[in-house]
Order: sequence, then C-alpha cells, then structure tokens
Amino acid sequence: ATNNFSETCMIGQGGFGKVYKGMLGGQEVAVKRLSSDSQQGTKEFRNEVILIAKLQHRNLVRLLGCCGEGDEKLLIYEYLPNKSLDATLFDDSRRLLLDWTTRFNIIKGVARGLLYLHQDSRLTIIHRDLKAGNVLLDGEMKPKIADFGMARIFCDNQQNANTQRVVGTYGYMAPEYAMEGIFSTKSDVYSFGVLVLEVVTGIKRSSNSNIMGFPSLTVYVSTH
Ligand code: ATP
Repeated sequence: ATNNFSETCMIGQGGFGKVYKGMLGGQEVAVKRLSSDSQQGTKEFRNEVILIAKLQHRNLVRLLGCCGEGDEKLLIYEYLPNKSLDATLFDDSRRLLLDWTTRFNIIKGVARGLLYLHQDSRLTIIHRDLKAGNVLLDGEMKPKIADFGMARIFCDNQQNANTQRVVGTYGYMAPEYAMEGIFSTKSDVYSFGVLVLEVVTGIKRSSNSNIMGFPSLTVYVSTH
C-alpha cells in the first residue's frame, strides 16, 4: 500500500516514527510505522490501538487497522489531506485557508471531540497531549483529534490521578500537572484553552523570541 515504505510516500515524522500515505482497498490511508529507536514504545502502541478502537466520533481520527507482527508495528488511519492544525496555523501561505468561520468551526469540533472523550463516550478518557500538532484537518477543514498514545482511561467516579511520569508538551500543560503530576479532565481543558488562544491569535504558545515582550502566549493573554 505504501510502495514498500517508499520515501516518496512519506508524509510526516513524529516521535512514533515515519508516517506514509498509502492506498488500501481503493481508500487513501495514513500508515504510521513504529521505528525501532522510537521513544514511544510498545506500551504507547498498544494504548493507542486499545483506546481508539473503542472510540467513535467524527472529531476523532479513525483507526482502520493495525499490525503487530514481530518487530513490525503499524497503525493504519483514515487519511486527512489538510495536515495538522499547527502546520496550517503557523504557515504563512496555509494560514490563509483559515478564515474566522473555519477557525470557529475548528474550535467547536475540537471541543465536541474532547467532550466525547471526557463525558459522552462509555469511557472517561484523558488525552494528556492535546495540542495543535495533534489535531488533523480533513478535506473540509474539519478537525480530528489524533495521537492517543499518552491517553488514560478513568473509572466512573475517579476525579484525578497522579503520575510519576509527566508526559505531554510544555506550554500546553496545566501547572498542577507539570509541577506535581496531578491530572484530570481539567488538564485537557487547560490544553484546549491554550489551543483556542493559538487559533484566535495565530501566535504560537511559545517561540524563541518573546511574544510582544512576554515570555509566552498564556502570560501575554493573562496580563491583558
Ligand atoms: P509527536 O509524535 O512528537 O507528537 P507528531 O504528532 O507530529 O509528533 P505523528 O502523529 O506521528 O507525529 O504525525 C506526523 C505527521 O504525519 C503529522 O504532523 C501529519 O502531517 C502526518 N499525519 C499523521 N497522521 C495522519 C493522517 N491520519 N492523515 C494525514 N496525515 C497524517
């Protein structure tokens, strides 16, 4: 389907390994191939498969299949042609695709996907790494939340949890999570807030240079 993982079919690279575009049974697919030196190991691979297979929502990326034969670990997703939200939001020519209506619809779509994870699906799921890079856009610029490798399932009455291993992305992390490892659905809501600020302002949460004299987007916004 990917012409034997040909470089010409490669469409991206993440912590997991390389991502290829492929054709499977007449359908366009994205194939993620776990590289042997990946930081994200077998545990995250299993987590992604088990979790996302149980979830179905128009604002979550669909997993079509997987392979775990020997060392070869693959995840097969529906193909989303309009790249990730950050690749669109922070690119000078691609950002023109995002008028106000589209931006508002993206925010609403991500909110719906998150509400489904937190409240409306049969499980309570904390994503733990919600960010513009983990939101993919389909042909109509509708958003789909991706990357469930770090996600956790909560029991019905569980309010929060503690972890020794804080995973996620600085800048999107709620302070109590970054500092004490405490996470709950509220940590995802904090990350969602940062994402909303990025979509509305078109400014990256943190960059090498200051944001109008402030160290980050959140500090800038909270000071105004
Ligand atoms: P990290 O793994 O560090 O979070 P990442 O989220 O960018 O980084 P991946 O999720 O592996 O890494 O994806 C890498 C890139 O591959 C994405 O930015 C996107 O451009 C492309 N990609 C991933 N999934 C799909 C998909 N379903 N359809 C189209 N392109 C995709």
